[in-house]
Amino acid sequence: MKEKVVIIRYAEIHLKGKNRGFFERLFTVNLERCLKGLRHELRRTSGRYLVEKFDPDRVEEIESRISNVFGVHSYSVGLKTEADFDAILECALEVCPEEGTFKVETHRGDKRFPYTSMEVNAEIGARLLAAHPKLSVDVHSPAAYVYVDIRERGAALVFGEFKKGRGGMPVGASGKGMLLISGGIDSPVAGYMMAKRGMQVDCLHFHSYPHTNELAKEKVVSLAKTISKFTNAYRLTTISVTRIQEEIHAKCAPELNVTLLRRFMFRLAERLAKKRGGQCLITGESLGQVASQTIEGMTSSNAVVALPVLRPLVGFDKDEIIEISRKIGTYEISVEPYEDCCTVFLPDFPAIKPKLSFIEEEEKKLDVEGLVEDALASVEVISF
Ligand code: ATP
Ligand code: MG
Repeated sequence: MKEKVVIIRYAEIHLKGKNRGFFERLFTVNLERCLKGLRHELRRTSGRYLVEKFDPDRVEEIESRISNVFGVHSYSVGLKTEADFDAILECALEVCPEEGTFKVETHRGDKRFPYTSMEVNAEIGARLLAAHPKLSVDVHSPAAYVYVDIRERGAALVFGEFKKGRGGMPVGASGKGMLLISGGIDSPVAGYMMAKRGMQVDCLHFHSYPHTNELAKEKVVSLAKTISKFTNAYRLTTISVTRIQEEIHAKCAPELNVTLLRRFMFRLAERLAKKRGGQCLITGESLGQVASQTIEGMTSSNAVVALPVLRPLVGFDKDEIIEISRKIGTYEISVEPYEDCCTVFLPDFPAIKPKLSFIEEEEKKLDVEGLVEDALASVEVISF
């Protein structure tokens, strides 16, 4: 009897020593979540996971979902059968092409199996050769592999390929962060990068309705949804910064518009993060990319918050960021033309290296706490 299975191997998480149980449980939860709605059984066996009892016609769907889960180092679609030569051969015949070069590679997870790995290689290899005269063995660079994995309880797994997983760490293993997400290219990629390292990412967007429109908001919802395939996030929070922008525009030096707005965004993000157990802020800033993304600009926004600010793209070039955004499916959405709040009231000459003393002086013209409180009253949560 043979059954189609998917074998999942996890990435760095096996290195975590005493935390291993925690990581494995988390990984199990994340895998179960990704397989939701598909009939299956998920089992952990030593050092790997097995998806079994699914509809074989849905195997591509299962593969596509698994390939989005962080923590998956590699996976294989294979066959599970009894650990005896006849049964293994039957599976090997399915996995191996009928001509060309091949090699059998056996791993004996259950050392009680009465033959060594070399003996299994030799026996299955010989039987494959006998079955298909156009096959030949090449142990150095074969065109095809037949992997045989002898498991506990008399089971064997047979497969032909290791497919590369998404890597990274299981989401939830590395704390919680508040992602400041705009409609641009960079911030969705920043959220993806942090989730890749196991961070749970909560998305926060600032809008300037009615200066920005409903389509701009839809675009951000769509971006947040797209990265949720990887981050498991289920909501987007929005806050209106309309009054803040209007006040800054009316009262402060125009070259500081962006700098001052960014400080308000950070304050608001920190307030919300603290309320929700968020441990850091995440932005899509990249050093020197635009006038406000200088070390002076970053210093000025960091100065108003106590939480650490993670900028995973700080050392990336724009084309490197674009490459990732294309791969994760956000690029096409990000380049839609609807404006987010930063382009409203944009000054002709933004300050490139704003002095903290000047910023603080200009900020005194505003009722900072009042504006923050007022903006917090506009919080909306969009679940998806
Ligand atoms: P992005 O492509 O992410 O928009 P950007 O290069 O356009 O980035 P800026 O507009 O200078 O950069 O914004 C820098 C960062 O500030 C963004 O990456 C994002 O994290 C945050 N940010 C900017 N605008 C908003 C907004 N409307 N809502 C939430 N966060 C924002
Ligand atoms: Mg932007």
